[in-house]
Amino acid sequence: MTMNDPREMAAGIVGAVDWQTEVSGFCRCPGESLHTHKTGKKDCRVNVDGAPTIYCFHSSCAPAVAASNLRLRRELGASVWELALPGGKVLRSGDILQGDGSVKKHEAIEGGAAAPPYLGDRRAGTDAPYLSEKLVLETLSVLAERFRPELFEAFHWPFAQIVEDSPLLVSERDPEDQFRTWLRLWPSHCHVWIGDVFSSGRPEHRTNFRPVADWYQIGPVMGNFTCGSSFKPGSFQRSNANCNGTRFLVIESDTLAKDEVGAIFLYLQRRLHYQLHCIIDTAGKSLHAWFDAPRNKILETRLKAGLTAFGCDPKVFTYSQPVRVPGAFRDGRLQRLVWLKD
Ligand SMILES: [Zn+2]
Repeated sequence: MTMNDPREMAAGIVGAVDWQTEVSGFCRCPGESLHTHKTGKKDCRVNVDGAPTIYCFHSSCAPAVAASNLRLRRELGASVWELALPGGKVLRSGDILQGDGSVKKHEAIEGGAAAPPYLGDRRAGTDAPYLSEKLVLETLSVLAERFRPELFEAFHWPFAQIVEDSPLLVSERDPEDQFRTWLRLWPSHCHVWIGDVFSSGRPEHRTNFRPVADWYQIGPVMGNFTCGSSFKPGSFQRSNANCNGTRFLVIESDTLAKDEVGAIFLYLQRRLHYQLHCIIDTAGKSLHAWFDAPRNKILETRLKAGLTAFGCDPKVFTYSQPVRVPGAFRDGRLQRLVWLKD
């Protein structure tokens, strides 16, 4: 190893690293003493490529991890270094090692912008290296891929356990009750769309856009679908432009089974602190979880990068996307709430 081996520099900060690839390995969390849950051997990872990052599954250690991240990025960003990879490839500071073994060059990520040292200019008035949002997103995406197996293990939440863990008993309620219980998640002033996928776009579809109180009277009879977003009064088209503020982030996956996708829900709730409102069994292969929407566009874009790497459907970030409404029947089977917040 040379003096400039980034892995040596990383080990100087986090201690011994159990390297899993040339650039990423398990380490002891710098804030382990702050953990409020049991610490597993694979809870914390250090990565030296892209935006160098220490990531831990616990959230109570966040201040200590942030301080170590600052140090890691400062030290690794202070010099230009390179790592020889098997097969003769070379990875330089700021490059990212992709899951398939290829190297994404820093210049390609930044569109030709200057490479490190300091991963660009230092942030004004601080000693922290500047990280472009492009580099952060690309790094996030490969990190999510890397810790995916540990995430599914650490946050395992199978379907039967979700039903059992529900703060309110909801799964056995009758269809009308299912529907009205779900309606109560919306503030009363909201105009909500309910219909079939094509009940949108023409003036006669105004009847599918109604205040919550109207739906309370009508019941679950106008279609199998709704949206995670409310609409402007008078809307007849389910478009993002007509969404008006109140919205939920509905997480679903076409590829993860009902016993798998719960890990993503639990990770979002417990680790990222998104408020979970309900989980709906779609009466098909999937579950939908309704969360508070991200607070701003930056958080939303970062979450999207991570969720996509986990196998969730990026179209959930289209807030006018139709999703299953509880209380309606799909081929004779009830779309129903299986988890509901207190
Ligand atoms: Zn930790």
